[in-house]
Amino acid sequence: MTSRKIMVRMGIIMKNKECMNCGSTNFHRITNGCKCDYCGTFYPDFESSRQEKPSIDYTNRKNIKPNIIIMISITLSVIMLLIVFLVLKSNEESTPQSISTDITQLKANDKFPGKWTKGIYENVVVATKYYDANNEKYSFENGASYEELEKLVGKPDSVTTWEEEDYGMPPRATATWNKNKDNEYAGNSVTITYNKNTLMITDKSHY
Ligand SMILES: [Zn+2]
Repeated sequence: MTSRKIMVRMGIIMKNKECMNCGSTNFHRITNGCKCDYCGTFYPDFESSRQEKPSIDYTNRKNIKPNIIIMISITLSVIMLLIVFLVLKSNEESTPQSISTDITQLKANDKFPGKWTKGIYENVVVATKYYDANNEKYSFENGASYEELEKLVGKPDSVTTWEEEDYGMPPRATATWNKNKDNEYAGNSVTITYNKNTLMITDKSHY
């Protein structure tokens, strides 16, 4: 097997048209190469043999590398964005759920103040409380919206608020309804506690 080095050298010789063996400058063409007219040394056709080999396309190689780099960059960017999104999402307080306004349920009533009915009271979904030991804070999820509740039952008769976080609890308010439609004490009351930041209902009670 002729090594590439020799092939290259032969190419140079053939270019100079001088036989490596005898120095003759006369050749005749045969299949796949040339033969020296004098000593008969065979020179494989350097040009054609090179063309027959599957050539390494350097232009493609150059194209593949930047493509891989771009792909990796895009993948990394997507992963980074996902992480940022998840971190932001975990820090963000979850938003309140809406209150079911099924009329038959809302009309059911027994001894509730003002516009309150048994149905409304039962439909008020209280948030699930989670305690995060890492930051010693409570968080609330899937509670109903206090804003929506006020639209159903009107403003409370009294409100107590905790403007500051304490014992890991977020700033919150407790709203109480204890009067009937004629603004007289109803003899019963509903108390709703909600997160002051998110307006999510975190507790309820009825006496
Ligand atoms: Zn020769």
